[in-house]
Amino acid sequence: MNGHQHQETFPDESTVLEEPSNNSPRALALSTIVLENSIELNDQLDLANDPGCLNEIRTDCDPAEVVGARECDEPCIDSDSNANLDDLLENTRLEELCITNSFIRELQNASLEGIHSNLDKEALDRLRNPPTTLFMLEDQPDLQLALELFLGSLKASVDVYNTARAAVLKRHPEDNLPSYDQMKKLLEQITGVGSIVHPMCRNTCVAFTGPFADLDICPKCREPKRCPTSGKIQQEFHTMPIGPILQALWRNPQSAHQFEYRRRKTREIIESLRNNAGKLSSYEDFFHGSDYLEQIQKGNITDNDIVLMFSIDGAQLYAHKASDCWIYLWVILDISPEERYKKDFVIPGGFIPGPKKPKNLDSFLFPGLYHLASLQKEGLIIWDAALDQKFKSQLFLGINTADGPAMAYLNGLVGHHGKFGCRLYCPTPGRHKTNGPHYYPALLKPVDYEIAGCDHQDISHFSLTVSHSHYFTNLRYLLQSPNDTQYKKRRLETGIVKPTIFLGLPPNSTLPIPRCFGSDIMHLSTFNLSDLFLHLWRGLIDHDPLDPPSNWPWAVLQGKVWESHGRDVAAATPYLPGSFDRPPRNIAEKMNSGYKAWEWLLYLYGLAPALLFGILPDPYYSHFCKLVQAMRIIQQYSINSADLVLADNLLRSFVYEFEVLYYQRREDRLHFCRQSIHALLHLASEVTRIGPPICSSQWTMERTIGNLGEEIRQPSNPFANLSQRGLLRCQVNALTAIIPDLKPPKCNLPRGAIDIGGGYVLLRAQDRCSRYMSVREAAAFKNYLEGQHSLTLGEDWLPKVTRWARLLLPNGQVSRSRWKEELKPINKIRTARNVKGLLSTLAAISIYSPPLPSLLIRSHGTFASCKYFGDNNLSIIDVTCIKAVVAMIPHSPPGVENEDKHFYLVERPGLDIANLGSNIQEVFNEES
Ligand SMILES: [Zn+2]
Ligand SMILES: [Zn+2]
Repeated sequence: MNGHQHQETFPDESTVLEEPSNNSPRALALSTIVLENSIELNDQLDLANDPGCLNEIRTDCDPAEVVGARECDEPCIDSDSNANLDDLLENTRLEELCITNSFIRELQNASLEGIHSNLDKEALDRLRNPPTTLFMLEDQPDLQLALELFLGSLKASVDVYNTARAAVLKRHPEDNLPSYDQMKKLLEQITGVGSIVHPMCRNTCVAFTGPFADLDICPKCREPKRCPTSGKIQQEFHTMPIGPILQALWRNPQSAHQFEYRRRKTREIIESLRNNAGKLSSYEDFFHGSDYLEQIQKGNITDNDIVLMFSIDGAQLYAHKASDCWIYLWVILDISPEERYKKDFVIPGGFIPGPKKPKNLDSFLFPGLYHLASLQKEGLIIWDAALDQKFKSQLFLGINTADGPAMAYLNGLVGHHGKFGCRLYCPTPGRHKTNGPHYYPALLKPVDYEIAGCDHQDISHFSLTVSHSHYFTNLRYLLQSPNDTQYKKRRLETGIVKPTIFLGLPPNSTLPIPRCFGSDIMHLSTFNLSDLFLHLWRGLIDHDPLDPPSNWPWAVLQGKVWESHGRDVAAATPYLPGSFDRPPRNIAEKMNSGYKAWEWLLYLYGLAPALLFGILPDPYYSHFCKLVQAMRIIQQYSINSADLVLADNLLRSFVYEFEVLYYQRREDRLHFCRQSIHALLHLASEVTRIGPPICSSQWTMERTIGNLGEEIRQPSNPFANLSQRGLLRCQVNALTAIIPDLKPPKCNLPRGAIDIGGGYVLLRAQDRCSRYMSVREAAAFKNYLEGQHSLTLGEDWLPKVTRWARLLLPNGQVSRSRWKEELKPINKIRTARNVKGLLSTLAAISIYSPPLPSLLIRSHGTFASCKYFGDNNLSIIDVTCIKAVVAMIPHSPPGVENEDKHFYLVERPGLDIANLGSNIQEVFNEES
């Protein structure tokens, strides 16, 4: 081993820690900001102007009056007060709840030296005294070679590294190249990043952590912790403590600079609030949300701090139930959205082997949260390589996300079938059927319906808001249940099953409970809504025998119509550019064969408005288009405030009309009113609270599960392998942050490409020599020059040009010219020559007609059908006017005769995050 340790200068005791002070260049007096107006969506709501609002039928009933959400008969507990929480926990009687409480208490008492910390002395020392020098690789050629070999073989198997190492040693026997196992230890030494291992029940009931740490058998299934014969731990799981990883990310100026984004953005937002009377013109990030800004205002988040997002989901590593497991990860919100969701910065936090579901998730999350809580209490010491100074950072847990089932574990609420089943804990009670156990969030009261506790009057869709103040009152009421019967009754009344483990974190270091739990736009907009609507339209949803689907005017996707609809979906593929990612498959054939979230997204919000036109009768068609228009807005990465108000109105009237059109106040159809419909009522106001939902969506998780799953090499032991890969991911991310030179070189432009500035790059193919323009092109060019540059050109002017086949746009899409695309057969291409732009390298474009107004109106603007004129309507534009590649898909608009040149428009959904992880080089390769 060569002397890399010499380079690791551990600071001595005399290193002076610079406490953050107001004089330090980092500190900014954010606390003096007063947000003059809260950014309440309702302030701006003007229902009279709502194009789709049925406000004459509007009912104005305050949900709080009807809910059984208990009125505050005692003062609401201030979540800022630990004393109140203690008091609350002390009065708990039931054993099961006491266990949850003891996890919370252990977190409250967390410390790095505490019994549950599990850090050895060396790790603890390093955490408190992180290295304060750059890691220099220059004079350690052997180490450099070894690291490069190791990183180069990461995607392959262990054998690849060992084979390459053996080959090098054969030629240069004097080289000091560590073995694969030595490399793993070395990685841990350099980065300080390791994992903490805990035993767990082999049936995944509980982890032996916190209050379960000393148990020898599982408290749920009695399975022993250790194998009775060998004495070995039967099953274990890994947790990666976040502190060392964050420290590593600051240990090089290049990566330390990444953390500036949040500070800069926060300043900009506050400046803009000041200049616009407390209103924002658009929402672009979590930091635009009122909850974050409120924490800034309170001083709970300062410039030195780091804001994290926690995300958990169940995963199937490959197509087999036996590989089911749970993964949680951390996203660092301080880093810009362009970078933070990439593989390099997403940090796996822990893995829970399956395939059974954990019975006590708290016990599995405990080690990671204990570490977080310790750091939140003590502060994390970070050496900022950019400024060469140490500072203390508070870790703020901004938001927790999960899909529906996982969320019920996290937030301790009853889940979607409960009387209060809204995952945002809004006080809207559901209604159940006679003798049915499940509640459904129908706001309109069924006719002839008299079920005690559910027969409240209609609740208005247009005034429904979320308040969280009743959470603590209700939690106290639940915890004080004297016996099991009372507990069940109170659980029903409050919608709370148990206190959430997140109550154990310091209250100033997280958003208040339950506001720290977000919604999940990914599952909602794709799987949940498509499941409901396709079951309705296909007539497959459960129904009363007296209510047959043959009587449903909307149940049209059956038999031949359904099959042909499926073919129409598949037929759009050649017209969807490669930058639209995976095109939806034939839905009639494949919807039950792992139809992906992305396919649903393109189907529902891209193709469906055109493909359902003339099939789904009105008013159902027009109703659906409202959802499409609203979701196209809500799923954008940057949402303009005026659009948001429009989306809010559309969504509220969509939900109201859903009840009127489909459920029709029928008790036997109450189950049509699912939580996925109710959730739409909150979407727009959630944007004002925590920013665009895409920022805290599960798309990141989905991609991380995907790319970790691809790395699994040993299907025989997938869980252990996954944990190893996850740890390795953390270490490699830390390593390449510490030594950026180890990252693969930034992609160079492909051969022959010309960067024309502003993010635009001309890509080959290119004409070998210049050629004359066609007469029509020349006429358009002449028009352009005469108009733009006041030139006068002769009648027969015929210029020569050099054509390019492709243009890379600043948004990462590649636009192609008709020149090359037309040479390929239709089944080989993904058309990418349709572009949208505002009106130098020039492009000759053929302008489509304006969309047919009748279709546009009937579809709430979601079905734009335009005529293509080819060379008959050419225009010349500067290429930097081209903003995005869109899809134009051929179809025959109804009522237009002899028409074969019509196309409908599909834009790429605004889910840039789903695509941000892909390397630009991949874009080149794919497109070449
Ligand atoms: Zn068990
Ligand atoms: Zn709700």
